[in-house]
Amino acid sequence: MNIWPQIEADDIGAEIFDLAAEIFPICRSITGDGVRQTLDILGRHIDLARHEVPSGSPAFDWTIPNEWVIRDAFIKDKAGRRIVDFAASNLHVLNYSAPVHATIALAELKQHVFTLPEQPDLIPYRTSYYAERWGFCMSHKQLIALPEGEYEVCIDSELKDGSLSYGEHLHRGNSDREILLYAHICHPSLANDNCSGLALLTCLARHLQGRTTRYSYRFVFAPGTIGSLAWLSRNEDKVPAIDHGLVVSCVGDGGGPTYKRSRRGIAIIDRAMIHVVQHSGFANQKLLDFSPYGYDERQFCSPGFNMPVGLFQRSAFATFPEYHTSADNLDFIRPEHLASSYRMISDALEIIEKDWTPLNLSPKGEPQLGRRGLYADTGGNKSTGQNAMALLWVLNLADGSNSLLAIAERSGIAFSDIARAAGRLREAGLLAEA
Ligand code: ZN
Repeated sequence: MNIWPQIEADDIGAEIFDLAAEIFPICRSITGDGVRQTLDILGRHIDLARHEVPSGSPAFDWTIPNEWVIRDAFIKDKAGRRIVDFAASNLHVLNYSAPVHATIALAELKQHVFTLPEQPDLIPYRTSYYAERWGFCMSHKQLIALPEGEYEVCIDSELKDGSLSYGEHLHRGNSDREILLYAHICHPSLANDNCSGLALLTCLARHLQGRTTRYSYRFVFAPGTIGSLAWLSRNEDKVPAIDHGLVVSCVGDGGGPTYKRSRRGIAIIDRAMIHVVQHSGFANQKLLDFSPYGYDERQFCSPGFNMPVGLFQRSAFATFPEYHTSADNLDFIRPEHLASSYRMISDALEIIEKDWTPLNLSPKGEPQLGRRGLYADTGGNKSTGQNAMALLWVLNLADGSNSLLAIAERSGIAFSDIARAAGRLREAGLLAEA
């Protein structure tokens, strides 16, 4: 029996896409109401504990920053027309921008505008969290078309004493050992990065509800970098119980799949994700070694923690042209890609749940399978041939030192086929748990 219900790809894809679309318009940042509104929506699907960490609180070498409030922002031309409007796209405001209200010349305005000259039609996504400044983002095409003259600039924002918000959901399994699943919640209207990850993990948590699992599952939705630091600094006592973990982002495009190993490199989560990616059938699969650059796996894999946490993505961040631009919108992510990402993640978790180490109880020579009805259905077609190979591999490697995952890796046969074969051999009395 599978842990996760076998949902039709069309159904799960639509379910994740709809949730991603619902949270897409919200202007999120590392702090502020955008994060809270997003947690409100995710909390309608799963039981989500909310945490507020006050501004100024320490998080290891960092300090929780002030809370960002954004009400409105615009650039008006001489005629008083809004030529850049926050209401049209929240990417227009430098995320976490300080307030400003002034009338300035074009030359001065240009010093506060970010564009993408190489992608002149797109609005970039830019942030300034730890250096206080104000700014706008717009298409390069629009910037170069602006006539000389004066412009009224207004960013109606505030950086105030408040808090950083994050959400947490715990699914209790039979054991207190945990699997950590993490998605960052700090990006504004960007669909792949990371409405897709937030929506996918929420749906995964929802489908776990009422299911019996071996592991407990901890889902954390928190801002990038400062959010994982805040979580870690307040939950250091929980870290030793986490046996496996995955950071999930950019799971709605058709690239990859990409798996970046944990710092350990050979953790079970690394092996399970690599096995799934290699059996995914996708031509563009990428398996990356750990590097100290990326998303929140950097904090989980810092030397003081060295947790077994990897990163799963479709296209790797910063490798697709839509990355951190207005083109990372709801047209860029597709339900079918969300569905296959969901499938790969749940397959890897299924491996972790179902792995065990078998011992061959008849190890001297091959046991006679035909007499036990285990060879009876090998009629020569390819799939039954594969089943026979799975039986033979399990029997041969079941010396008490190889888990089913290790047998799947060495044989090149999918874990699900190896697990099924081991189950049949166990029923036939040929295997026991080592
Ligand atoms: Zn990003």
